Amino acid sequence: MADSCKYIFVTGGVTSSLGKGIISASLAKLLQARGYSVTIQKFDPYINVDPGTLNPYEHGECYVTEDGAETDLDLGHYERFLNTPTSQANNVTTGRIYSNVIDKERRGDYLGKTVQVVPHITNEIKRRVKLLGKTGHYDFVITEIGGTVGDIESLPYIEAVRQMRWELERQAMVIHLTLIPFLRAAGELKTKPTQHSVKELLSSGIQPDVLVCRTEHTLTEDIRKKLALFCNIKTDSVIESIDADTIYDVPILMQKEGLDRVVLSRFDYPTNNAPELTKWKRFLYNLKNPEKEISLHLVGKYVELPDSYKSIVEALTHAGSDQKTKVNIHFIHSENITDKNVASLLKKADAILVAPGFGERGIEGKIETVKYARQNKIPFLGICLGMQCAVIEFARNVLAFTDAHSTEFKSSSQHPVIDLMEEQKNVSDKGGTMRLGAYSCTLSPETLARTIYSQETIHERHRHRFEFNNAYLGEFEQAGMKGSGTNPDAELIEIIEISDHPWFIGVQFHPEYKSTVANPHPLFISFVQAAGQKKHTPK
Ligand code: GLN
Repeated sequence: MADSCKYIFVTGGVTSSLGKGIISASLAKLLQARGYSVTIQKFDPYINVDPGTLNPYEHGECYVTEDGAETDLDLGHYERFLNTPTSQANNVTTGRIYSNVIDKERRGDYLGKTVQVVPHITNEIKRRVKLLGKTGHYDFVITEIGGTVGDIESLPYIEAVRQMRWELERQAMVIHLTLIPFLRAAGELKTKPTQHSVKELLSSGIQPDVLVCRTEHTLTEDIRKKLALFCNIKTDSVIESIDADTIYDVPILMQKEGLDRVVLSRFDYPTNNAPELTKWKRFLYNLKNPEKEISLHLVGKYVELPDSYKSIVEALTHAGSDQKTKVNIHFIHSENITDKNVASLLKKADAILVAPGFGERGIEGKIETVKYARQNKIPFLGICLGMQCAVIEFARNVLAFTDAHSTEFKSSSQHPVIDLMEEQKNVSDKGGTMRLGAYSCTLSPETLARTIYSQETIHERHRHRFEFNNAYLGEFEQAGMKGSGTNPDAELIEIIEISDHPWFIGVQFHPEYKSTVANPHPLFISFVQAAGQKKHTPK
């Protein structure tokens, strides 16, 4: 249906952090559940070419796609809700747009012309929106415009939306997500900020078709009418988005409010059939009616900002629902962990997860954590840097290589058990140069990993420069730490496990990126199961 692809733009007003990503993903879910094919794209108005060079304090987690793009964490929500992979084309930043236009200018593509924001930058934005529509795969392309209407840096995007809306006529629509604050002193919900925000959009030539209103209290009929009247919107197109217990409630709430019906009628599509959400509702039911609970301690250095570990938390949520287990996550700052306090900090843990990361800060706390999990036989999952810490710990405390380390942190170590990958040795640019995206991995027979995945070859996503140093493999295996997953082309060790332990796995890749509501990840399922079965007793 390439030529009839419909374009839906989602803008935000009043404040940031209203959850445009969740609203976009929820609408996409509802359309998908009615049999349409949908993709979601996010435009980010910052100058970095991608978020790969931003630390989590700046931008939360960096989400990695199959094709190795380092992207905004909203793409994680899109994949988790839709169960379809995204790619580089689904996340575009101002930096990438400008870099493309400047490359074209240098090649001489605009020879003789002055290159300007309008039309050259706006054309490049429009090209990237239409590119997804042109693939012919989608009935709907939902494009989320990052930032808030009125931001200087969002202006070229808003102008591109105005132009596309004009050019595509009835094939495009705009949904504006806004906030209706509750003023406690007055005891009232207030519509004025939304009126102003719509005015701001109107001054850029855009009349939104739908208002999605974030609110802590139910919108009364009067409020809906008032918003409709002052914002030139039909009353049924004023959609309430009330705070939800979980993000996975939002598609159901949007369905109740009729967001999907309003969108479909705007494009003259039938609305009489209902979305097929049986599996989604079962997932929600299990999530909300657990039969047991576990205490999972997540050790990382960005724990004050849980968005840094978004995909891990969501993967545990999916696995928890699958196992009808409430996963209580306790975030512990690795910098606070020492050999003295590790036992008291982790004594309540039924499972321990050491998070991915970069840089030396907090590394010794992570290594102490691994030691505690290994010695006390507590189910342990180490992801990326977490796996590397497990290797270092084993080298130091089992193989007695006391100064073992990763060369990321100590280049002079006598035992560099984690070392820079060969192909990374001549890399000096930091942006987009890690080992990124999906690689295949062969699982060895008779290993826990092979049992968990129940298949020989898996594909998982990566984001790292350092790797297990194969020169030590023999010594590790003899002492009881196996390499249970290997990249068949480069022979890199992708998974390690300890046989003499109920559940101890380290993965060089990021399984969390592939877990979705429809397809919870087997590794997280097994981890949660192990934690539930093994209510441990520390020594
Ligand atoms: N810093 C480590 C590396 O580059 C681990 C990266 C990660 O945890 N994503 O190999």
